Amino acid sequence: MRERSVTFILCLLSMVTIYTAVSGCSPGIGAERVETPTIAPGPIPIETGIPTETPISEEDPFFEARQRLVEEGIIGMGISDPLVIEAMGRTPRHLFVPEDYVDMAYVNHALPIGYGQTISQPYIVALMTQELGVHEGDRVLEIGTGSGYQAAVLAELGVEVFTIEIIGVLAEAATERLSGLGYENVHVRHADGYFGWEEEAPFDAVIVTAAPDHVPQPLLEQLTIGGVMVIPVGPVGWFQELWRIRRIDGANFRSTSLGGVTFVPFTRELRDE
Ligand code: SAH
Repeated sequence: MRERSVTFILCLLSMVTIYTAVSGCSPGIGAERVETPTIAPGPIPIETGIPTETPISEEDPFFEARQRLVEEGIIGMGISDPLVIEAMGRTPRHLFVPEDYVDMAYVNHALPIGYGQTISQPYIVALMTQELGVHEGDRVLEIGTGSGYQAAVLAELGVEVFTIEIIGVLAEAATERLSGLGYENVHVRHADGYFGWEEEAPFDAVIVTAAPDHVPQPLLEQLTIGGVMVIPVGPVGWFQELWRIRRIDGANFRSTSLGGVTFVPFTRELRDE
């Protein structure tokens, strides 16, 4: 039932994505929304369950905007895992976007981070994180570090994150940003993520945040039995299908479609810039 409603939401979002693409907006990561949610002033309802005693406190000028995003764009769009909701409420997205976009950090939209890449839409980050179904202490591989935001959300769940980025400058910036923020449980590597991270495998979960046209075999092989991969697959420049793939045993995998999404391409060229 839940899977059906997630698919329904994603289908709706896909339709919106088509409209967005047609209307000339650049496709970012994740399903785009046409209307930009406005951050209206006013008190935050108390029944959200979002913790207020976090390392990022009321002194954080973005505290309310973040809570409102979580309320409207995460819980309001159907995310129900309380730990994921809490992690989204704790992760300071404004510290992961370029200075020019800080004011838009808590709008439910993908944003540019340079080099033709984007930081994912918060709703899609929450959805993919929820679908991974990770537990504290799990080992998670991410392909496509980008800004490091998705890795930080995973780290907030108490997992050990191994994240790979193909663009050197982004890998370096994310390493500095994550360690500056005290995320000691995130390890960043500059490499082509197609081959996974053999020395650290197996992983309880693999999350791919760029879209390849097929599922890389090495990533399937680096999953534990029972492990889950969440990955968008499809042609470049159009929209793709988001899949959750569970490893049943050594040779068998069960795939579930989570609907249509739009991600930046999974590339194969290691870039130093
Ligand atoms: N998860 C990121 C969003 C990343 S956008 C965040 O939270 O900000 C997708 C990223 O995947 C881009 O930075 C892109 O450079 C990277 N990427 C694309 N192909 C890749 C590959 N083969 N290996 C590793 N990273 C790749």
